[in-house]
Amino acid sequence: MKKIFIDAGHGGADSGAIGNGLKEKDVCLTIALKMRDYLNREYAEQIIKLSRTKDEYLTLKQRTNMANHWGANCFVSIHLNAGRGAGFESYIYNGKFADKRSTNRFRNHVHDEIIVGTKWQDRGKKEANFHVLRESSMTAILTENGFIDHEPDARKLKSDGFLNTLAFAHTKGLALALGLKQRTSKKMHVIQKGETFWNLAIKYQSTVKKLRQLNPDVIPERLQIGTRIRVK
Ligand SMILES: [Zn+2]
Repeated sequence: MKKIFIDAGHGGADSGAIGNGLKEKDVCLTIALKMRDYLNREYAEQIIKLSRTKDEYLTLKQRTNMANHWGANCFVSIHLNAGRGAGFESYIYNGKFADKRSTNRFRNHVHDEIIVGTKWQDRGKKEANFHVLRESSMTAILTENGFIDHEPDARKLKSDGFLNTLAFAHTKGLALALGLKQRTSKKMHVIQKGETFWNLAIKYQSTVKKLRQLNPDVIPERLQIGTRIRVK
C-alpha cells in the first residue's frame, strides 16, 4: 500500500501568487482534489492524504510534519508560478541526500507526463532549497504549474478541462513512479465512424459529462476513428 501525500500550496490568509483574477491557493487546491479523485478512481492499493481539503492556512512545518508523522511514501507539492515566465517546471531538494537518484527518477516520471499532457513549455527539471522538499523525510517533489501572471497560462488555469488534464498527468506520472496497480473495472471502446460522446453515452448508459471525466486527455470534438476511449 503506497501512501501518497498531496500538498496544495498556500491557503487561508496566504493566497500565494495572484494574477488575471486567479489566486494560486484556489487553483492548487482544485488540482490536488482532482488528483485525489483520479488516483482513487484509476488505481488500487494507495492511500491519499491531503495537507488541506479546504481554504485554510497551514505553515510549511505543519505540512511536512503531517507527511512525516503519517509515514508517506512520497510528498507532492502543487504550486503555480509567477514573475514573468511561461510554462511548467518541477523541483527536488538541491542538497545532498541518500535517495537523490531515485527522487530524480520519480520526478522525471511526473514532469514528463505533465509536459506531454499539457503541451506546456518545458522550463526544466530544477533543484531548490524549499522547506517542503528539505524537511520531508520521503521522496519529495514540487510542481510549478504555469505562470498566474502570464495571460495565456492563466487562461488555461481557468479551464476546468485543462485542470482535469493537468491533474490527470500528475496522477499518471505518480502511478508510473510508484508502480501503482490499475483498477480492473474499466471498460474501453474503440471509436468507429460517426460515433460521438453523445451516442456513446446512450450506448453505455452513461452521460457526456461522465465520459469527459473518464477521458480527460481526449478532446470530444476531435474524436478520431480507432481512438480507444474509456466508457466505464
Ligand atoms: Zn506557491
